[in-house]
Amino acid sequence: MKNSKQLTTAVRRQRLCQRREEKFLRGKDKKQPDGWKQLPIGGTILEGGTAKKYKTGDWRNIRPVWNQDKCINCLRCWVYCPDSAIILKDGKVAGIDLEHCKGCGICSEECPVKPEKAIKMVPEK
Ligand code: SF4
Ligand code: SF4
Repeated sequence: MKNSKQLTTAVRRQRLCQRREEKFLRGKDKKQPDGWKQLPIGGTILEGGTAKKYKTGDWRNIRPVWNQDKCINCLRCWVYCPDSAIILKDGKVAGIDLEHCKGCGICSEECPVKPEKAIKMVPEK
């Protein structure tokens, strides 16, 4: 973008496109948005916290299974999880947010408990 005015225009257009798309997807607008000009601009993040809206956990093909009895609450899994999917309660691990966990396995890899880790990766069914 050459200047802030162009950026503002692009952002407004993208918001309009998103609203049209959402209306269409919810069935409130029967006319499908068409044409490349109506596509949202890629690579821009217009607001914070949008990850909550999208249940990215369904990309996963392996899932972490947390064993509370083996967990020593070192919080390494929480630090390393790239999706903030380790749920903490009162400073302790309380579970895994499977709606957002993508099954990368880093939490299990980093878990220091031996011989059997407190987080095991198992295939999704
Ligand atoms: S598998 Fe990956 S995304 Fe899921 S909880 Fe573990 S570190 Fe986070
Ligand atoms: S890394 Fe393992 S032991 Fe540490 S908090 Fe996570 S599950 Fe528990």
